[in-house]
Amino acid sequence: MTDRPKQLQFRCINCGRGASDLFKDYNNGIIKMKHCIQCSAVIDKYIEYDPVVISLDILLLNRKALRHVLFNSNIKGYWKYIILLLMFDAFVKLTLQRAKGEITPVNPTYIIYSATEWDFYKNCLLASVELSSVVFVISLLVVVFSQIHVPAISSKEDPSLLNWKDIVRALILSNFGKTLVILVVLCGTQNSDTFIQLIKAYICAANVQALRVCLPSWNSAIVIALTVTGHLSSACVTRYIQIYLFGS
Ligand SMILES: [Zn+2]
Repeated sequence: MTDRPKQLQFRCINCGRGASDLFKDYNNGIIKMKHCIQCSAVIDKYIEYDPVVISLDILLLNRKALRHVLFNSNIKGYWKYIILLLMFDAFVKLTLQRAKGEITPVNPTYIIYSATEWDFYKNCLLASVELSSVVFVISLLVVVFSQIHVPAISSKEDPSLLNWKDIVRALILSNFGKTLVILVVLCGTQNSDTFIQLIKAYICAANVQALRVCLPSWNSAIVIALTVTGHLSSACVTRYIQIYLFGS
C-alpha cells in the first residue's frame, strides 16, 4: 500500500477512481462540476449539498456520501472526534455497569458527576482498547489479504488507491454509530440491551461500507468476513481487558 499521489487527491464518489479536481473555477463566480473519465458521472455532487443532507445520507450508510466525506472533504481534528467517541463509549459502559441490566432514564447531572469517578477513566481505557483493536485487526487483515490476493483483487484497481491511512481513517470515522448508543442509555428503556446490540450491528455495517468505499473492487463477502473477524477479535481482547480492570 502506498500514499495517494497528489494529482489524484480526490475520488469519484460513484466509482472510486482518483481525480485531480472536483470542479473548474472560471474566476467570475461560475464553477463547472467535473465529470469522471471512467464512469462519466459528476465526480462529487455532494460539494453542492447542504451538510444536513450529507449527514442524513451518511446515517443511511450511503457509500457515495461516505466517499465524499472520506476523500473529498478537508476534515481536520480527527483526535477531537476520537476523544468524543471514547468519552461517549466510556459513559455508556459506566452507566451499563451501574445499571446491571435494568436501565432507567439517566439523570443529566450523572453525566457531569461520572467524570469524577475513577471507573469512568478505566472505561475510557477500555473504550480505547476496543476502538484501536477493531481498527488494528481489520487493517491488518486487509493488508495481509491484499498481499495474498493482489492479482485477483486489484487488477481492476489503481494500485495507488490502496492506502492504509485511508483504511484507518475510514474505520475510525465509520464508528459514528457509537454516538447513537448514548441516546438509548440516556432515554432508558427495558429493551436497551436489544438496541445496543442493534447499534453494534449498525457500526459493523458502517465499517463494511467504509471499507467498500476504500476498496471498490473487493468482493463484498470478503470485506464482510474481514470486518466481522475484526469485531469478534476485538470483542475477545476487550473482554479480557475488562476482566483485568473490573474483575468481571
Ligand atoms: Zn467515476
